[in-house]
Amino acid sequence: MDKDWAEKNKEMQMLLSKEATFRKAICKLIEFRESLFAQITQIVSTFPEEAFFQMPFADAEGYHSKTLAYSIWHIFRIEDIVAHEMIAENQQILFAMRFDQTIHSPIITTGNELTGEEIAEFSKKLDVKELYRYAHAVMDSTNQVLQQLSYADLKRRFGQEMIRKLQNTFCVSEKENAKWLIPYWCEKDIRGLIKMPFSRHWIMHIEAMRRIKNRLCKTARKGVDPVAFCGLSCNHCFLAAWCGSCRTIYSTCSFATVSPDGICPNVKCCREKGLDGCYECESLENCENGFYVPTNDGANAAKAQALYIRKYGKKAFLQVHDRLHQKYNFSKTQEILGQNAWEGLRILEEN
Ligand code: SF4
Ligand code: SF4
Repeated sequence: MDKDWAEKNKEMQMLLSKEATFRKAICKLIEFRESLFAQITQIVSTFPEEAFFQMPFADAEGYHSKTLAYSIWHIFRIEDIVAHEMIAENQQILFAMRFDQTIHSPIITTGNELTGEEIAEFSKKLDVKELYRYAHAVMDSTNQVLQQLSYADLKRRFGQEMIRKLQNTFCVSEKENAKWLIPYWCEKDIRGLIKMPFSRHWIMHIEAMRRIKNRLCKTARKGVDPVAFCGLSCNHCFLAAWCGSCRTIYSTCSFATVSPDGICPNVKCCREKGLDGCYECESLENCENGFYVPTNDGANAAKAQALYIRKYGKKAFLQVHDRLHQKYNFSKTQEILGQNAWEGLRILEEN
């Protein structure tokens, strides 16, 4: 488990165990859930549609053997059922907000019963934007449910009646690999439910989603030119582990993700001009487009690299990057090349 997430979870669980710190625990839990949810937001807003039904670890054991879409569906179906059928005893968000119609899911269950190819086929059918809206709505409503709990509620348990009620919702499949969920939830008190569906279950699946997306990016970058349009090196970029490069549809470069339609202005401009990269452009020196906007503190370092590529070619450029990384410890090129493109070019030439 991610070390930072494990520590936050542990701290929240400790605070939850005492009445004096119970409120603080709920606040910490909500804060933590929102930070975990940001990972989902980042994936949904930057990844192409096809990423959501890929299974790069199909043969593995564990949460990462699923798809991104399945992971989101599964986390929030479980939470919706537990928060609304069991704790708040009101209508699930899936039905209350009609997401059962807009997501286009062929099932209303948690998805535990699906295996292998069924998971990929199921994932292809989902409207990911609606699925994301559903996930957000479930998180928000659960946060409200959590805020309304008292310390005494934590000991509340569920009996046979709840088991029957949950079975009658048909939201958990009766197949062997799924039906264990209902007795599993019902043998816990509310504290136990907070420990699993509302926190640890998120961590495990979101961590798996990170593995899936990183593998998708790595695969996308295979055989692709590692020199980005603006002159940065994808092989040496601090985002390399989780960006698929702006030469593929898996670009998660921050400049691309904040641009309209997720397309970086430098990429768009190069394509319109039919250029391989900004290093081929006659306007390079004075350009203030996209990554070269003066307010970007990495603008001139990128420009220095584009100037270097123009003069010496990509092969020499990647070699100079290798040497710089052997010599210095840095993540962003401006830390070494500074804020002046010509001075940056000189540093590259000296190395
Ligand atoms: S700033 Fe644009 S061109 Fe440069 S790496 Fe990012 S997406 Fe690619
Ligand atoms: S005008 Fe700027 S962004 Fe466009 S190709 Fe030239 S250097 Fe790149």
